[in-house]
Amino acid sequence: MTPIDRPDKDVLVLGAGIIGVCVALHLQKRGKSVLLVDRRAPGEETSYGNAGLIERASVIPYGFPREIPTLLKYATNRSADVRFRWTFLPKLLPWIARFWFESSSRRLRRAAMDMLPLIERSVTEHTDLMAEAGILHRARRTGWMEAYRTEKAFSAAKVAARALDEFGIRYDFLGPKDLQAREPHLAGSFAGAVHWLDPATVADPGGLVKDYADLFVRKGGEIVEADASTLAEEEGGWSIRTNGGTVRAREAVVALGPWSDAVYRRLGYRVPLAVKRGYHVHIEPAGDAVLNHPVVDVERGYLLAPMTKGIRLTTGIEFAERDEAPTPVQVDQTEPHARAIFPLGRRVEPAPWMGARPCLPDMRPIIGPAPRHKGLWFAFGHNHHGLTLGPATGRLLAEMMTGEKPFADPAPYAMSRFG
Ligand SMILES: Cc1cc2nc3c(=O)[nH]c(=O)nc-3n(C[C@H](O)[C@H](O)[C@H](O)COP(=O)(O)OP(=O)(O)OC[C@H]3O[C@@H](n4cnc5c(N)ncnc54)[C@H](O)[C@@H]3O)c2cc1C
Repeated sequence: MTPIDRPDKDVLVLGAGIIGVCVALHLQKRGKSVLLVDRRAPGEETSYGNAGLIERASVIPYGFPREIPTLLKYATNRSADVRFRWTFLPKLLPWIARFWFESSSRRLRRAAMDMLPLIERSVTEHTDLMAEAGILHRARRTGWMEAYRTEKAFSAAKVAARALDEFGIRYDFLGPKDLQAREPHLAGSFAGAVHWLDPATVADPGGLVKDYADLFVRKGGEIVEADASTLAEEEGGWSIRTNGGTVRAREAVVALGPWSDAVYRRLGYRVPLAVKRGYHVHIEPAGDAVLNHPVVDVERGYLLAPMTKGIRLTTGIEFAERDEAPTPVQVDQTEPHARAIFPLGRRVEPAPWMGARPCLPDMRPIIGPAPRHKGLWFAFGHNHHGLTLGPATGRLLAEMMTGEKPFADPAPYAMSRFG
């Protein structure tokens, strides 16, 4: 190992998705010189293709269902919101077993309480960064909706929403007429909807990440294209190979989302990181049809969101290997339902986009130091809520790295919980 006497940078941040960019910005605010590393431009992977929800209302993490009818529906791939690739199941079983275990009502509540400090700050932390970047117009403060086709499902949703009253979450229950008033072009015989009022939404999540990355560069930060798997430990720090030569720094942060194993595995860490794949397609609205909010058609298992490129139809979960070829069955299953409830024209892209939500079975991310490597830090595994949690994660990790008092207890996010 070469001793690092004079490092080129204080910190290497690996991964320029929403998490890495926000970590870089918060370290920079605290006086650190940072090199942000990615194999492509910022915000072009998972952080590009999501549904654009800054999900302040998602206080209870998405657990594994425990009701027998729902389990049977999922097990037989009869539901569009969750799909299994059977060939992958034997490999996935230990992960699913842990996910199931963590999804008991008692453990789910504990996970919710652990995640609450991050979720609570999600919109305000984004708003602060947007204000600094001069892009406050990107935040739509109109919330999003879950629409229900049957009275039975709507009634159950109302009970679930009221259970969040203790967290101060704001919502409206909309009957068919109220829903029509807020979404005049939405057809179909919905029994009603829950309109979540606290979340913000964005029409171009990838563009948001690029704007945050531009802010980082405007304030003196540097971004390079390089392969994060060339990260090497040196005496007193870390180095990475770039086209312009080797860059050395005292510390490094792994924020590679679903690809974080490219670094931690080589260093001997065993982490149950799996992916829940998801797809989207953009479809042009027909005529003068306007969708005012992202709307989930709950019983049919998809979301429609008004985005810059058109109406983004986003699918639920596909359990499959991260790198297996795409199988966008859920897009084909749900698109006819979407066309029946909203006037849609032609698809914008020839093929659906596919992304991989980086997921840990206890529904908490890893944010904190590597237990056995000095100067190495982790920030990955943000499940369904990486866009939501990027700025809060960036703040928390930067506070830990610079010895500030962290705004939240970081213990629940420690890598050491996996040994
Ligand atoms: C369909 C779908 C809908 C979603 N909807 C929402 C939502 O509405 N709200 C929400 O909060 N979250 C949502 N999510 C989840 C959210 O998108 C993710 O949690 C989040 O984007 C993860 O961000 P990240 O920065 O960790 O990963 P990424 O955005 O994937 O960033 C990782 C970066 O690492 C880089 N990288 C990987 N390997 C290497 C390497 N070897 N060398 C160099 N660079 C490398 C990649 O190029 C990439 O830029 C959704 C996800 C999906 C798939």
